[in-house]
Amino acid sequence: MSQEQNKRIHLDQMYQEIIRDHHKDPRNFGSLEKPDLREEGYNPVCGDRIVIELTIDPEKKMIKKSAFSGEGCSICMASASILMQETENRLISESKALIEDFRKVMQSEEIPESIEGDLEALTGVRKFPVRIKCALLPWTTLKKALDGLEND
Ligand code: ZN
Repeated sequence: MSQEQNKRIHLDQMYQEIIRDHHKDPRNFGSLEKPDLREEGYNPVCGDRIVIELTIDPEKKMIKKSAFSGEGCSICMASASILMQETENRLISESKALIEDFRKVMQSEEIPESIEGDLEALTGVRKFPVRIKCALLPWTTLKKALDGLEND
């Protein structure tokens, strides 16, 4: 078996585990007291709804805190949970770059180096094209929220 095949199988198992883990125990689920940014997203194909709230440190240009709420399938909820984990305490510019990388991954075979750990496991969703929208919803919602900052 090639190394590449080995990696695929390993990723498939990780994918299942990560979805289960984040769905069962979502990180940063809830809402913030005084969010600086709030954005809602909806995926009509599956019925996923999500709300993302953020507090921003304008001096450091960082996401200080992030939280999500809403209702959706396990893939959407797990993806949101992973997104919170990946972007809290990150520079806004870095977060935007990561969102872009993740969107690209969902449309291609290649996995850039920035996509690793839980996030790499999440790319297993590409095997189920109808679910890609579920996985992307939190990411496009966060992007919309951050784009609102553009002129600050
Ligand atoms: Zn869904």
